[in-house]
Amino acid sequence: MSVQNGDNLDALSAAVGSDRLVVGSTTLAANKVDLAAGSVNNANPRGVTSLAAVATHGRPRAEAVASLFAASGLGSCTVDGSGPDAAAKVVWQKLAVNAVINPLTALLEVENGRLVDLEASRELARSLASEFLAVATAKGLALPWSPESLHLAAEDVARATAPNKSSMLADILRGTPTEIEAINGRVVDEASRLGVPVPTHKSMLTLVRAKEELQRAATSPEMEILTTVDEVRRFRSRHAKQTIGMVPTMGGLHAGHMNLMEAATRQCDLAIASLFVNPKQFAPTEDLDVYPRQTQIDLDMLREAGAAAVFMPDREAMYPEDYATQVDIEGIDTISEGAARPGFFGGVATVCTKLFNIAQPDKVFFGQKDGLQCMVIRRIVQDLNIPTEVVVCPTAREASGLALSTRNQYLTDYQRQRAPVLFRALSAGNDMFTSGESNNRDTIVSTVQSILESDSIVDSVQ
Ligand code: AMP
Repeated sequence: MSVQNGDNLDALSAAVGSDRLVVGSTTLAANKVDLAAGSVNNANPRGVTSLAAVATHGRPRAEAVASLFAASGLGSCTVDGSGPDAAAKVVWQKLAVNAVINPLTALLEVENGRLVDLEASRELARSLASEFLAVATAKGLALPWSPESLHLAAEDVARATAPNKSSMLADILRGTPTEIEAINGRVVDEASRLGVPVPTHKSMLTLVRAKEELQRAATSPEMEILTTVDEVRRFRSRHAKQTIGMVPTMGGLHAGHMNLMEAATRQCDLAIASLFVNPKQFAPTEDLDVYPRQTQIDLDMLREAGAAAVFMPDREAMYPEDYATQVDIEGIDTISEGAARPGFFGGVATVCTKLFNIAQPDKVFFGQKDGLQCMVIRRIVQDLNIPTEVVVCPTAREASGLALSTRNQYLTDYQRQRAPVLFRALSAGNDMFTSGESNNRDTIVSTVQSILESDSIVDSVQ
């Protein structure tokens, strides 16, 4: 099934065979349909869906999809008909709401909900709706709206998706091409073929094109490499209107770091990373001098992950000679990993406070693998009123269960072979707790301990 803007049914029919193609227009309904698994996710009982089969004899397929939707609790789902005309009608139903909402959100740079409050933009939405219906009528499509009711239907969608950015606005903010040609461009093309005047759609098309051009000039598609605090500040102010997600790292990147980047690019307009081996978090006896450094590989991986910029300061840029301030969390050096590595969390808290102040990210991404570190970051963000949101992402593991870590490079073959015992032991403790078998700390620790002690690679268990 294909639910999309524009009218590329011919190309799709040629690709998959017209009898296999079911098109749909769905409002506030499913956001993920997995036909193979036979499931629809995030069904919204207020959702309204119309389906049509592209080929007349494809109707049973459309009905199968409709019953899948209905079984998933969608409010209403109807098969509108079969054949190219019915399919065009369904596609234009979807196009209608997008053609009214999307260019306005992109031009005004507002979330969907704001459109409903702005009287001047409602005026434009009204004329977009009435021009749209004039084109659809000239095309011979009987859409289920009057100009006024289409305008109200579009406002309903805008209200129900109030906090969302339309895909057109998201594309503008990312500096990537928008769907304006497939949406309002499509309306303008049909209008000129049919001789219907659509001045508002034409203006939207031209203005969004102009906005794309401006945005392209402002956003460099190349990943920027920033080495000084001033460069990061200038980057931040150039992108003042965008949300930024930051992934602090010490380099030596692997798939665990890439998961954080993936979350940052998904949740924010721009994702940035830092590469800095922070001397303040290494004890004199630790591995600062030999910590793996692979800058070229790291930069290639970040570029591939879609990073907009990377901050890689040298030691002097972060800690000049007269540097004197330290962020410490009271009591942290007496518990768990903090007790085993005195000074470590103070070093982490200090460098992260600096990074957050320098880049001013809207969100920062950390790995669950370093659980106590995540708690420390949440603590400093709360205590020092740092205006960012901490997002913790799941631990990426090898198939054996061993958590990915830059320091795994230090493991001998023997240790690497034995290391999965950590995951086995932790999983056993977790299972005891989540299955309700025990919620007694000592019992759980002693189970974990006995599994670990069966192996000779573990130093201490807490
Ligand atoms: P590091 O470069 O080791 O300081 O790690 C930078 C960030 O990546 C931290 O937030 C880590 O928790 C996270 N990270 C490292 N390894 C993993 C992993 N295997 N899974 C998820 N996150 C990770």
